[in-house]
Amino acid sequence: MTNIQNKFPGKDITEEDIKSKFPLAAKRNKDHFSVIKVKDVEIGGDKIPMMAGPNTVENEEMALKIAENISKLGNRIFRGGAFKPLSFPYRSDKYFEPREKGLDWLKSVKEKFGLLIVTEVMDIRQIDNISKVADILQIGTRNMQNYPLLVECAKTNIPILLKRHYGASLRDFLGSAEYILNEGNKNVILCERGVSIPHTHRSTSRFSLDLQIIPAAKEITHLPIITDPSHATFWADWVEPMALASIGAGADGVMIEVHNDPKNAAVDPLQPLDFEQYKNLLIKLKKIANSLEKQVI
Ligand code: PEP
Ligand code: MN
Repeated sequence: MTNIQNKFPGKDITEEDIKSKFPLAAKRNKDHFSVIKVKDVEIGGDKIPMMAGPNTVENEEMALKIAENISKLGNRIFRGGAFKPLSFPYRSDKYFEPREKGLDWLKSVKEKFGLLIVTEVMDIRQIDNISKVADILQIGTRNMQNYPLLVECAKTNIPILLKRHYGASLRDFLGSAEYILNEGNKNVILCERGVSIPHTHRSTSRFSLDLQIIPAAKEITHLPIITDPSHATFWADWVEPMALASIGAGADGVMIEVHNDPKNAAVDPLQPLDFEQYKNLLIKLKKIANSLEKQVI
């Protein structure tokens, strides 16, 4: 057995892993890259789809306002949490998850603007309901290695956005992707959302966006990979530079939190962009994408 370290500067992935641990996630040759089709939107080709919207859909009016805004800017995928992995168990009028009501609001977004919906699944018991509205099922960082959840979500055959756990290696990340592929669901999109490191420059920066995972993933897997600079930086001012860098590094899409009134966001108020900031970000992103012969949608 040859150690892959002879070929790649990888730390923990061997040729044997590629053959026997994640043969379905692994590239078959150096030009093997999958394009995932979500209805009429392609992820992994020369298009760079944005997934934009609020952390949490707070009410129908705000969901529609944000959806209208991103739709006018030419985006096709709306992100919004209905079931949320909130860090603390207490709920209030300000800090809440809308649950089933949120799914109804996402349905309105879909019907009124024809946007595709990506929303998180936390629990096997929610899969049936969420599957009625979601075009992409999001597995959050905290559930990356919740294997029964991965398997049950995979069985719906709905495309899956798999977020990297903030402490997981690429090997672990691909192991989780393999669980989904192994159920026959070929539509896996990887998402880098920041890793936990001891040295950050401010207390609000909980994670650091690991841009190096983009070229690393592309050496080994054919699956598309996007980034979520909002959750990585936790800080709106840093979202633009990290989004631009993501496209420069080869990301196949970007997830961005956008809110009509960021200061009053129910969850994570420091990280969403307002409409003006998001519009300006798109102008810059498009320039970088165009220089790489890709198109932001
Ligand atoms: C989210 O996207 O709403 C979210 C909770 O992200 P993460 O799982 O990356 O923390
Ligand atoms: Mn969040």
